[in-house]
Amino acid sequence: MLKNDKKMKQIAITKTLSYYFTDSTETNSGALDEKFEKLHHEMIELFEKYGVQMAESGTSYYGIEKFSIEHCESCEKVMINRDKNPSGFGNSEYTYDLDIAIINGGDLNGKSLCEECLPITHRWGLHS
Ligand SMILES: [Zn+2]
Repeated sequence: MLKNDKKMKQIAITKTLSYYFTDSTETNSGALDEKFEKLHHEMIELFEKYGVQMAESGTSYYGIEKFSIEHCESCEKVMINRDKNPSGFGNSEYTYDLDIAIINGGDLNGKSLCEECLPITHRWGLHS
């Protein structure tokens, strides 16, 4: 039985994943670097307001056509169409959280659907 007055020390790790659609014109101009730099500094200030320290932050880029990244035609979630790109992100950098930000999906009757909208019988359906 735990004593009521005993405090257990813990560390809370919070993750924030986000995405932004861009193109080579914006990335090559440097405008996106400037935008993300400003966002990063504002996030640090916001985190500090709540006493939270930012441990890591980074941005990685993926070719939309190369990886078959699409919006689900039913729920609009961002997905990687695994019927068009069976290997997914492969050994790309920063892949450890990509399955949270970009879920799997596939084709069904001419539509691109995410794993949550595909039926269970589909290869990439969430519970298949
Ligand atoms: Zn969906």
